[in-house]
Amino acid sequence: MMQQRRAIAIFTDLDGTLLDHDTYSWEAARPALDRVKLLSIPLIAVSSKTLAELEYLNQGAHLFDGLIGENGGIISLNGETEQHGPSEEKIDSARRKIQAAVNVPLTSFRTVSPEVIAAETGLLLEDAIRAGQRHCSDPLIWQPSPQDVAIAREIAAKLSLNLVKGGRFHTLCGPSSKGQAMKRMLERLAVFKHEKTQTARRKRFTTIALGDSPNDIPMLQEADIAVQIPTKHGVRTAPLLDHSNLHIAPKSGPEGWNAAVNAILDQLINTNKNSEVLHG
Ligand SMILES: [Mg+2]
Repeated sequence: MMQQRRAIAIFTDLDGTLLDHDTYSWEAARPALDRVKLLSIPLIAVSSKTLAELEYLNQGAHLFDGLIGENGGIISLNGETEQHGPSEEKIDSARRKIQAAVNVPLTSFRTVSPEVIAAETGLLLEDAIRAGQRHCSDPLIWQPSPQDVAIAREIAAKLSLNLVKGGRFHTLCGPSSKGQAMKRMLERLAVFKHEKTQTARRKRFTTIALGDSPNDIPMLQEADIAVQIPTKHGVRTAPLLDHSNLHIAPKSGPEGWNAAVNAILDQLINTNKNSEVLHG
């Protein structure tokens, strides 16, 4: 029997967590990212972005081994994509029902041109094209009254969908969360073939998850080690959740990411050296 370390896997939110809130740069996390690569630790992006946006982001630097997009609705590993969120048909039909019931004009990312998405978000046109490639969630473009929001929420709920208020948009989406998607990704990462016998085996992972917002809570809850990244312009110091192993990073964004991941890896690797875990 070989003595070996339990494998580590890292799941991270992007905006405000690995990416700086204002510049979208991850440069300050470079030392920890290099270390993660060197240790062959799978790094998974978990974001509300579309798969098209995540793939584009990953093209240059190949930071991520797997991608989870649309807040957990879509999962991609080794070029194989699984959609766990609601179907496009379901999203479209719910949106049409909401459109007919509310008192204001309503369009959405799935129905307008990339030019309109660019105007609404301030994105460049080519980025807006990728942001519009949505499969299981749809940010609404409207100016609703509180009553309109209530009507839309009720219709969504009747169809087992959610209406979630993100930064500036109400997004129509499924009940799938970043936490469920993380579980599924772990199942897929865990399966490997034993070298000698070629039989299917399962790896066990110690999981680290990093996030900065309420929509990251289901993912942080799922992790063995949860890291909360403080907001850059906020004053929130209160923990996002109850977790037996919650770390609050000393700084915001990629600087905090770098410090937290390095500290946790130091700890995990030393612990493993001192008391090596036996695997059967
Ligand atoms: Mg975030």
